Amino acid sequence: MDLGLKGKIIVVTGGAKGIGAAIARHLAAEGACPVIVDREEQASWELVEELREAGVAAGAYIGELSEPTNCREAVYYTSREYGRIDGLVNNAGINDGIGLEYGSPEEFMTSIRNNLLHYYCMAHYALPALRETQGSIVNISSKCAITGQGHTSAYAAAKGGQLALTREWAVELLKYGIRVNAIIPAEVSTPMYEAWINTFEHPEEKLHRINAKIPLGNRMTTAEEIANMVLFLLSERASHITGQHMYIDGGYVHLDRAIDAIANSINGTYGSLRLK
Ligand code: NAP
Repeated sequence: MDLGLKGKIIVVTGGAKGIGAAIARHLAAEGACPVIVDREEQASWELVEELREAGVAAGAYIGELSEPTNCREAVYYTSREYGRIDGLVNNAGINDGIGLEYGSPEEFMTSIRNNLLHYYCMAHYALPALRETQGSIVNISSKCAITGQGHTSAYAAAKGGQLALTREWAVELLKYGIRVNAIIPAEVSTPMYEAWINTFEHPEEKLHRINAKIPLGNRMTTAEEIANMVLFLLSERASHITGQHMYIDGGYVHLDRAIDAIANSINGTYGSLRLK
């Protein structure tokens, strides 16, 4: 399926690593030009070099997104350098564990700034350019917003805010033909995830227990599987989809966990009983 993304200029925040990097690579593979906005200078330029060496256009703007002026500059840079913006992927974020018991109002607000404010700022500053192209916005949220996680109030609030803004912007931007959707990942192996899993005393064991609870295949979602949906939503192929929250999680949030043992042991006793 041709997604029609060739030549499109797509801004990807947090595009240097993890899910954002997978999105940037997939965009490049479709002939689009990803513009990475990230605070990780080395990782950003390494990825840009990798893509350019493969013969595709790519760019980067290095900056800390919690500072609104950096969001504005990132958008201005992209418009100046490439002449247009066809899509915005708000993706940068960090699960920083600012909880109710272990946290403070100041830390809560800092985390909101790190995780939510720049989603607004990027969309705000990119809007004039997106109006011209009838571009599209994809917000990367988290299952945390739906299920909670414990000990991470600010991140959960930010992720919930992103889902609310997705609906709100979808309504506000109807008149411009700008579509806005959100993706809700659950467990995706990325540098951030690895850092989190390594905070446990027995990370391997913890990972094994998490995988066992993921209904489809007892495995984590790959960053590429998230990227596939992002590209589809950015493309004209999703021309009548807006205001949606898409779960890309192997059934983690919605499927009955009790069925897990049955569904995933089709060669075992439970499975054969069920298949008969
Ligand atoms: P990641 O591996 O840490 O990559 C994110 C990139 O964004 C990193 O380069 C990071 O830099 C950068 N970044 C983060 N905050 C930034 C800021 N304020 N300004 C500039 N750059 C910033 O993270 P990921 O796991 O790919 O997560 C991407 C998105 O998916 C996040 O919104 C996350 O909440 C969401 N998500 C992930 C999972 C998962 O299982 N991985 C699950 C649900 C939702 P640093 O390395 O310096 O932080």
